Amino acid sequence: MYQQTIAQLALGLRQGTFTSVELTQAYLTRIKQHSELNSFITVTEEQALQAAKAADLRLAQGNAEPLTGIPLAQKDIFCTLGVKTSCGSKILDNFIAPYNATVVEKFNAAGAVMLGKLNMDEFAMGSSNETSFYGAVKNPWDLNCVPGGSSGGSAAAVAAHLVAGATGTDTGGSIRQPAALCGITGLKPTYGRVSRYGMIAYASSLDQGGPMTRTAEDAAIMLQVMAGFDPKDSTSSDQAVPDYSASLNAPLQGLKIGLPKEFFTADLDSEIAATLAAAIDEYRKMGAEIKEISMPNLNMAIPAYYIIAPAEASANLSRFDGVRFGYRCSNPVDLTDLYTRSRGEAFGNEVKRRILIGTYALSAGYYDAYYLKAQKIRRLISEDFKNALAEVDVIMGPVTPSTAFAIGEKSNDPIQMYLSDIYTIAINLAGVPAMSIPAGLVNNKPVGLQIIGNYFAEAKLLNVAHQFQQVTPWHQHSPKGFE
Ligand code: GLN
Repeated sequence: MYQQTIAQLALGLRQGTFTSVELTQAYLTRIKQHSELNSFITVTEEQALQAAKAADLRLAQGNAEPLTGIPLAQKDIFCTLGVKTSCGSKILDNFIAPYNATVVEKFNAAGAVMLGKLNMDEFAMGSSNETSFYGAVKNPWDLNCVPGGSSGGSAAAVAAHLVAGATGTDTGGSIRQPAALCGITGLKPTYGRVSRYGMIAYASSLDQGGPMTRTAEDAAIMLQVMAGFDPKDSTSSDQAVPDYSASLNAPLQGLKIGLPKEFFTADLDSEIAATLAAAIDEYRKMGAEIKEISMPNLNMAIPAYYIIAPAEASANLSRFDGVRFGYRCSNPVDLTDLYTRSRGEAFGNEVKRRILIGTYALSAGYYDAYYLKAQKIRRLISEDFKNALAEVDVIMGPVTPSTAFAIGEKSNDPIQMYLSDIYTIAINLAGVPAMSIPAGLVNNKPVGLQIIGNYFAEAKLLNVAHQFQQVTPWHQHSPKGFE
């Protein structure tokens, strides 16, 4: 039963083909069998079985919601009451959250079953899941390769059928990039669509949570629960949440698709380019109009992001001081020693690098030259998206410049690692929603197609993704050994 989609499982639960307890047990067994992936930081077995029992009762009473009884897991960046929330860091290795993130509350209210907390890059900083204090996650398509990051545990677990669906967060690509490298569907909603309350902050003006699933249909079901205004998050939007499943089957005749010429250059791997061309052809067959567009400021996205995100991170991470949360060094001699040794001993290298860059960029004398300039570029990039999306309904492009790379290949070369975000980062700077869907395989490794839409056009993206999944098999493929 674990091969099924959330939509199929929901039907099975309603028809009594299996119970939530049976389903939960099946996934828990699979999680144990495939511990080699290192996709979970914490498995909440007892709690999951209790939630499953409650869900079975609710199903029997006939007041179940679509996610009631469905086993899911949370990226370990979402606070979970009474359960360790590490954010992939040694500094929070002993942190038991005293409250639930809004997203977690919403899944609980919907009757979903939480199987545990998923591995991730430390504080969501990374593109390969190698910066986690808990070790690298392995890509089920090739155990020598990275699953992508920072939501690598989520992507690997969904791809290997260890969980029916998972949450991820995306600051510069962390939902879409691992979804692409693991061959699953990932959706980064519009900034402000999903509450950030209780989602440990990396770069607050960019962070956004979203679903990671096998299909667009499942992403619609999960987003339905996650989305909506939250009085506890001042940046959450009060725009009404539409019925995301209602428009999945709308025909795509006349859909205008823009292909930015800046995305399709010689830098893109030729086999990925050919895979994407074939995918775009499928849309042409469905009646879409394809148009080349230009977004001239995209080339400045990486330098702007790698100033803005570290600047915000350096401020957000100042709260981890050895006093209020998590790790504290032993025998501090005074307060300064307590701060510096606690942070020095418990933050990993990438996190330290970001704090240094961010602090430098924000310091008096450099603020105008770096931070302010990056903000101006951010504005230009947003304008590019506004202009393009006035001309076309959706923009399509690659998600990653290559398929999954080897563990260790880029971990000592931060610039190479940052360059792997080249197709995803601009979307966060603009705040628009985007998806990655499986578009094919190159040397038996998944390739993602990115679909970018206008602000709050998640329903359109899901429709465009779902229609592709009606005519292609890529989302149904499972890695060998994980069928
Ligand atoms: N790879 C990017 C970074 O390291 C994006 C990470 C993310 O989206 N959380 O910042």
